[in-house]
Amino acid sequence: ADTTVGALVAERARAHPDRTALVCGDTELTYAELDETVTRVARGLVALGAAPGESVGILLPNRAEYVLTWLGAARAGLVEVPVNTAYKGQFLDHALRGTDVRILVTEAALLELVADLPEPPGTLDTVVLVDAAAPRRVPPGVRVLTWSDLLGGDDPAVPLPRVGPADPVAIMLTSGTTGRSKGVVMPHRMQVVAGRECAEQMGTTPDERLYTCLPLFHGAAQVNITMHGLHAGATVVIGRRFSASRFWEELRAHRITQFNALGSILPMLLAQPPSPRDRDHEARKVFAAPAPPQVLHPFEERFGVHVVEGYGLTEIKNVLYNPLRERKVGSIGLPTASSVVEVHDDTGRPAAPGQAGEIVYRPREPHVMFSGYHRDPEATLATMRDLWWHTGDLGYRDEEGYFYFIDRKKDALRRRGENISSHEVESVLLAFPGVVAAAAVGTPSELGEDEVLAVVQPEPGQRLDLAGLFAHCDRSMPHFMVPRYYRVVDRLPVTPTGKVRKADLRDHGHRDAW
Ligand code: ATP
Repeated sequence: ADTTVGALVAERARAHPDRTALVCGDTELTYAELDETVTRVARGLVALGAAPGESVGILLPNRAEYVLTWLGAARAGLVEVPVNTAYKGQFLDHALRGTDVRILVTEAALLELVADLPEPPGTLDTVVLVDAAAPRRVPPGVRVLTWSDLLGGDDPAVPLPRVGPADPVAIMLTSGTTGRSKGVVMPHRMQVVAGRECAEQMGTTPDERLYTCLPLFHGAAQVNITMHGLHAGATVVIGRRFSASRFWEELRAHRITQFNALGSILPMLLAQPPSPRDRDHEARKVFAAPAPPQVLHPFEERFGVHVVEGYGLTEIKNVLYNPLRERKVGSIGLPTASSVVEVHDDTGRPAAPGQAGEIVYRPREPHVMFSGYHRDPEATLATMRDLWWHTGDLGYRDEEGYFYFIDRKKDALRRRGENISSHEVESVLLAFPGVVAAAAVGTPSELGEDEVLAVVQPEPGQRLDLAGLFAHCDRSMPHFMVPRYYRVVDRLPVTPTGKVRKADLRDHGHRDAW
């Protein structure tokens, strides 16, 4: 049914009030308690003077108040702005100022970063601190309250505004690896449908326990696990952060049945020393992107967890899932019910099966994709052409309609007249024993085309056999794809969701590599 985020939570609380909805740190809430707290937060925010459509910034690590602020703001018709906790200086300023944040929910230590800005964002008038620590510095002219002040401001006489499915619920900031970060405005219905489709595709039942340790300021944690779990009426368990050595212990402790993984999480779990307890857990399914066969097969064999690969972007949510049954390993899947997905060639015409082109998207119903970049209509229009939303990713479709990811357009390399997918090179690098993360980037050759540079991160404390790695690449890929340069690093630069920041690698001098 067509609904809002706040109404969905209320509906689930009516259906099964006593089931556990959320577990995070020491907080554990049933659906009834979640619903009641969300209403208190909503009224508390209204009591602070926030009017419908105004922005509530959340600058927090993963903790229960994060989810409560997001859902409370949603019920009050306010717009949540999740801010990356690694931001400081001009990035933080841009995030808060660019979205007109009026109320900011944060911790004392993080508030100091706001206080350190040359000038506090003009619209910011209230800060709510969720921890007990006293901030050493506070931005001038801003009132500072506690979480209990917020809940205490709840007055049952205060009416909550009417909220509709097309109203904005969040402005998610893109990671900005390709320029200044943009604000993705998400309508309520988009988050609800994203949660519903995740639950459908993953076959989630209400007795399941879902886990994520990705940061809540990213759609993968907030929408693909939290919204998904709430939609299914299941239990959502949120971990503080990813730790490869403690991962399975945490899953066992919380009797987790399903989790999600981005970037290099699966390879990092595979790099842990094998243990007799590797299958001693209740997890049966993981949503992962990417999940190349070289990682998927060993992961499934060792841990007994079925890997579902899918494809999505913050702007359009997950639009492809590799089905639980009739799966094709290596494919990123088939379109969801609300999505039309195609591959277009350079002239904008549908590409033939097997032919590479740009992955494009169109919604089947209104408000299931973002409503535009916040205050950036030009950027929004630049991604829309001929009524298709352009993802900037290269892929192809097979005869049966399954999609395959080749590369981001901007990461694809060209050498000896051949197109090279950095993604494919990385899959081969990852299959070499001892490699936990890898990136293939272009570095200019004498001829002005790309030479392939492989940047690899070995397991901690291990020495990589580079000659062996080269021989492995030479054996496993066509000659023109084999990286000519290799560099070993302790840690690849990654975004908070674990994606490699390739732009950072390109900027370095590469020729000292090998
Ligand atoms: P920014 O836009 O700020 O650079 P980002 O692109 O990482 O950040 P997200 O929306 O988190 O923002 O990521 C979407 C991108 O992730 C897609 O465009 C695609 O390149 C990549 N991706 C998604 N699914 C897969 C997959 N199954 N395999 C490989 N890459 C994928």
